[in-house]
Amino acid sequence: MFKWGKSNRVLCTRRFFLVALQFLLLASSSHVWSAELDGVRLWRAPDSTRLVFDLSGPVKYKLFSLEKPNRIVIDLKSVDSSFNMLAVDLKKTPISTLRSATRNKSDLRVVLDLHKSVNPRSFLLKKHGDKPDRLVLDLHDKSVKTEKKIIEVANARKRDIIIAVDAGHGGEDPGAIGPKRLREKNVVLAISKELVRQISRVKGYKGVLVRTGDYYIGLRKRRNIARDMRADLFVSIHADAFKDPKAHGASVFALSRRGATSETARFLARKENQADLIGGVGGVSLEDKDKVLAGVLVDLSMTASLSSSLQVGKHVLKAMGSIARLHKKQVEQAGFAVLKSPDVPSILVETGFISNPKEAKSLGSSRYRKRMAEQVFKGIRQYFDDKPPVGSYLAWQKSGSKSSRRSAVYIIGRGDTLSGIAEEYRVSVAALKKKNGLRSSKIRVGQRLNIPTS
Ligand SMILES: [Zn+2]
Repeated sequence: MFKWGKSNRVLCTRRFFLVALQFLLLASSSHVWSAELDGVRLWRAPDSTRLVFDLSGPVKYKLFSLEKPNRIVIDLKSVDSSFNMLAVDLKKTPISTLRSATRNKSDLRVVLDLHKSVNPRSFLLKKHGDKPDRLVLDLHDKSVKTEKKIIEVANARKRDIIIAVDAGHGGEDPGAIGPKRLREKNVVLAISKELVRQISRVKGYKGVLVRTGDYYIGLRKRRNIARDMRADLFVSIHADAFKDPKAHGASVFALSRRGATSETARFLARKENQADLIGGVGGVSLEDKDKVLAGVLVDLSMTASLSSSLQVGKHVLKAMGSIARLHKKQVEQAGFAVLKSPDVPSILVETGFISNPKEAKSLGSSRYRKRMAEQVFKGIRQYFDDKPPVGSYLAWQKSGSKSSRRSAVYIIGRGDTLSGIAEEYRVSVAALKKKNGLRSSKIRVGQRLNIPTS
């Protein structure tokens, strides 16, 4: 007993020295840099500029604005840098110069000289996958143009059907990377641009890009952009990678509020939902606000949009099947955050697997991307031809052609039957008989029939 107690005391003493030594080391390390600034990347979005500072470890920082002249100053604590700030391309941004200097021997001060005033917002992103610790600085432009757009849309009579086309990923988030460094974010932006071009060529339709260039948009913001433009449909375009490079085929996904319909669907949804960690979204966590979606009213409208999503998805899948192999024959479902709009039908289209060498090759060709866009739009059109939204040009056209039938006269040819004609004009046989004073279903070639309104 005694012996044990003694050795324990010895251990305690030794531990004390170790702790003291560690403390001394920590104290002296305050003069040593805790992280290195390895690079600065810049992404310009239509209404904001994002700067991403790549860091070798977590940091503390302070940000403040100065006026006359306009500047933003960031002080990074215990950070060293040999990065050349002049290498950052500042074209089309509100920043005129970007410079840095060491301060208090161990801190780094970064200064942005501005030629336009902005609203800055900043946040830290933890290391994720192959992305290092990052400090993200968003500079929001002060002019806002979106309101005008909404009013224009709302006032339009016989309005266009609006399709929000969302190219997945972007900026900080390259998405999946295929052979020859083919990046999903670029492939899907090319397909999306082509899709919008094709949609807007058809009278009664308008395609709008959610992301117009190489920058990241948070998943919830993508939904909000679609809602702000009063979109009739939200289509998110992707070309993801799968664990197995042999995985292939195009697929269409809708939201599921229970489980995923397959292992692939679950895997892809989980991966897609991590985009905000890579691309960068600061502030409130996604989970917090998505709980609002559990409300009963939202539930009802969501059930309606979900059913529309599944229907339009079915058409798109079928159309894509004519040029690509399909991964699954039916629309799959999983908890994709980007599809959680309660009132805008939303689908996610996987145009192929970029991890599959053969499909990557197709996706890299502009000809194939054009054909893919054609098929996606073909599916969308089939859906809206069938169910044009109230107030749309398409709905007007459809009702117009119906009313022109009011005076339609049909001249019976060989092989015609009363029920066949009734079906063609979507009227009942009884109505057809009544309108023409027929007592039986007997008709003769050359006879004229007045077609009633359906
Ligand atoms: Zn993707």
